Amino acid sequence: MSLTPPLQRVALVTGAARGIGLGIARWLLDRGWRVALLDIDAVGLPRAEASLEAPTRTLALVADVSDPAQVQAAVAKVDATWGRLDALVNNAGIAIFKPVVETSFDEWRSVLATNLDGPFLCSQACVPLMRRSGGGSIVNIASISGLRASTLRVAYGTSKAALIHLTKQQAVELGTLGIRANAVAPGPVETEMAKQVHTPAIRADYHDVIPLNRYGLVEEIAAAVGFLCSEEAGYVNGQVLAVDGGFDAAGVGLPTLRRSQGQ
Ligand code: NAD
Repeated sequence: MSLTPPLQRVALVTGAARGIGLGIARWLLDRGWRVALLDIDAVGLPRAEASLEAPTRTLALVADVSDPAQVQAAVAKVDATWGRLDALVNNAGIAIFKPVVETSFDEWRSVLATNLDGPFLCSQACVPLMRRSGGGSIVNIASISGLRASTLRVAYGTSKAALIHLTKQQAVELGTLGIRANAVAPGPVETEMAKQVHTPAIRADYHDVIPLNRYGLVEEIAAAVGFLCSEEAGYVNGQVLAVDGGFDAAGVGLPTLRRSQGQ
C-alpha cells in the first residue's frame, strides 16, 4: 500500500468571478482540484470565492489578463501558495457586438486585448510553472463565433478565431514540453454576457440554427473543459471542441424541418 497522499492538482481559471468561469471552477473543485480564481472584478471575485465554500482550496487573484505585470504577479502568487500548476483555463472574455464600420478602434483594441492578448500573456506566464509541475493542460475558451462568421462580431469573432489558431500554435510547440493545448467553442450560454449582447431577435435566430433548440448550460461547458484539463484527455492536443448543440454542424434546412415537424 502506498503512503503517498493523492496529488491535489492545481488549476488557474481566468474570468472566474461569474458565468462560465465560475462554473468551471466549481466543476474542478467538486473533483478535488485546488483552483486559483482570477478576475478583474474586485467586488464580484470575493463573492464568487465565498459561494464556492472551499476556502482552503481556492485562491482569489484580482488581475487584468491583458496587463503583463498583473498576470506575472498573479501567477507568482499561485506558485508561492501551491508551488505547482496543472491546468490553465483562459476563459476571461468580453463581447462588443457592432457593425464593422461602427466599431471604434478603441472597442476593437479592448476586445482583442482581453480575448487574445490575455490568453497569450497568461499562457506565457504559466508555462514555466507547468513545466516544473511535470506538464499540464491549457484550455482556451473560444466561441462558435470563432468558427463561423456572423453579423456584428467583427472584433469578437476575429478575436476568437485568432484564439483558435493560438491554441494550435501552443499545442504544436508546448506539446513537446508535455503541455497540451485545446480550445472549447461554446454556443450560446445564458450568462451575464449573453444577457448583454443577445437581443430578442438574436435569440429567435438561434432557434433556427441550433438542432438541440436551446441555449447551453454553464455546467455543460464546464464538463467539456474539465475533461480537457484532466488526465483522461492525456492524448488530446490541438483540438477545438464545439459545445454548441450542433450549431457548427448545421447547414441549411433546419427551420423548414422544424416547421414540418410542428416545432
Ligand atoms: P461573463 O461576462 O459572464 O464573465 C466573464 C468574466 O470575465 C467576468 O467575471 C469578467 O469580470 C471577467 N473579465 C473580463 N475582462 C477581464 C480581464 N481583462 N481580466 C480578467 N477578467 C476579466 O461571460 P461568460 O458568458 O461567462 O463568458 C466566459 C467566456 O466564454 C468568454 O471568453 C466568452 O467569450 C465565452 N463564450 C461565452 C458565450 C455565451 O453565450 N455566454 C458563448 C461563447 C463563448
